[in-house]
Amino acid sequence: MNNRHPSSFLFDVVIAGAGPVGLLLACELRLAGVSVRVLEQAENPHLALKKLPFGMRGLTLPTIEAFYRRGLLDALTAARREAKPAGQVRRQAGHFAGIPFDYDRIDSSKWAYRLPSPADSNMAAEMERIETALADRAQAIGVEVRRGVRLEAFAQSADWVTIQAGDQSFEGRWLVGCDGGRSMVRKAGGFSFVGTDPEFTGYSVQVDLADPEKLKLGRQLTPTGMYFQTQPGHFGMVEFDGGASHRAGPITLAHVQAVLRRISQTDVTLTALHVATSWTDRAQQATEYRRGRVLLAGDAAHIHSPLGGQGLNLGLGDAMNLGWKLAATIRGDAPDGLLDSYFTERHPIGERVLAWSRAQVSIMRPGPHARAMEAIIRDLIATRDGATYFADRVWNASMRYDLGGGHTLAGGSAPDFEWTDGTRLAALLADGRGLLIDFDHRAALRSIARRWGDRVKYVEGDVKDRLGLTALLVRPDGIVAWACEGEANLEDAIEAGSRWFAVRDSR
Ligand SMILES: Cc1cc2nc3c(=O)[nH]c(=O)nc-3n(C[C@H](O)[C@H](O)[C@H](O)COP(=O)(O)OP(=O)(O)OC[C@H]3O[C@@H](n4cnc5c(N)ncnc54)[C@H](O)[C@@H]3O)c2cc1C
Repeated sequence: MNNRHPSSFLFDVVIAGAGPVGLLLACELRLAGVSVRVLEQAENPHLALKKLPFGMRGLTLPTIEAFYRRGLLDALTAARREAKPAGQVRRQAGHFAGIPFDYDRIDSSKWAYRLPSPADSNMAAEMERIETALADRAQAIGVEVRRGVRLEAFAQSADWVTIQAGDQSFEGRWLVGCDGGRSMVRKAGGFSFVGTDPEFTGYSVQVDLADPEKLKLGRQLTPTGMYFQTQPGHFGMVEFDGGASHRAGPITLAHVQAVLRRISQTDVTLTALHVATSWTDRAQQATEYRRGRVLLAGDAAHIHSPLGGQGLNLGLGDAMNLGWKLAATIRGDAPDGLLDSYFTERHPIGERVLAWSRAQVSIMRPGPHARAMEAIIRDLIATRDGATYFADRVWNASMRYDLGGGHTLAGGSAPDFEWTDGTRLAALLADGRGLLIDFDHRAALRSIARRWGDRVKYVEGDVKDRLGLTALLVRPDGIVAWACEGEANLEDAIEAGSRWFAVRDSR
């Protein structure tokens, strides 16, 4: 493609894909003041698979906090939000390969820096609702979303990326592929994508049954796979065929019936097929998230089995991490290495999620070895330490970037402090700027915040519970960059902040 000089239509960032990750990234970039165009190949965002029951998505703590901090949590309130555990009533708090763990076994003292907050540890929301909330926000803050326009090709030069979409050609300073698991941006951009091949084909289907009494509700592990019937006629199914049936042809009623018969080992009969899609447990991750001016986020950067309910959360975490860093790079106020930290922080989190999904597949395999391992996991998950461990992993409650030392909180999510006037930390983060929080009202810290101009707000005042801390520096994505108990070492604060915010030239 001819890499001509940019026309007047030069966007700071062009995003391929208006899925949840592309939309959240667009909102984060726009919040930070850069121009964004999103291209989405689908004309219509409303698909049956995005609605309940198939569109149900489990959201984990970092995702819920992200929505809360950007004022988007209320938009999801009609979702089936899980109530808090009551007394000693045992309630399921999550699962590992379908093995449940209960709230009343979880030792929440593990999360010493968590404060009571409207951001719950886990909740469920409909995909359509998530995308609608993000699309509405994107539109309200001036993101241009073009639906029915497919990114066909691109070519990058040193300063911009020329994009071919439909019959148009235009430029962006940066291109981000949020175009899902089969990402065109990843393939055309020359990113390598490595990992493990699938062991099964999974299906989400809605059918009518002639003899519904033959299949139980709930999750059933069988000698050939697994099926779960969430409500009559709505099935998830897994057949260990090495992924051979995935995209091998159209998913017909006859095929679904044959699979369901093999898995359930019954002669169940289907009379209608309403909705069908397939997926696998292929687990792959890009070895780089950036090549020149082209970046990847979400499923474009990593894929794995959906059974653990982590992919969306992982992708939204990418968007929160990348948005402010890319915007600072574009504005010219990013310190050296800021954009590279997107990969160094997010790739290990992705690796961990892929490993977690493989571990779940390994104990779902048909056969005595997997059953033996499953029995051990069942015993462990029923203990207090076990349930706490699994809750921590499934909710991603201790997610922490390795910032190379400092306070235990550094690299982790900032506690949702509540000031005595009722203001919460989340509200202070709504405009996407960093925070230098000073519980001891020290003039020196106020002057440090000024070094970083309007990218960091200085906040003082008394909070209801300061958790023994005297000061914190919080990044725009809500991650603690620096924290201190006792007398603040100002040099440490300056050094920590300089990694994330370039010093503003005061001339
Ligand atoms: C059955 C199932 C259940 C799941 N349950 C959960 C769960 O409980 N929790 C969880 O965290 N995750 C879950 N996931 C995973 C989650 O849905 C995905 O990880 C998430 O949708 C990825 O978001 P994304 O924006 O990266 O990609 P996508 O949602 O795939 O969006 C990509 C978008 O890019 C568009 N696009 C593609 N190519 C182009 C192009 N060339 N030009 C323009 N547009 C393009 C597509 O049309 C699409 O709209 C589940 C997945 C499945 C299949």
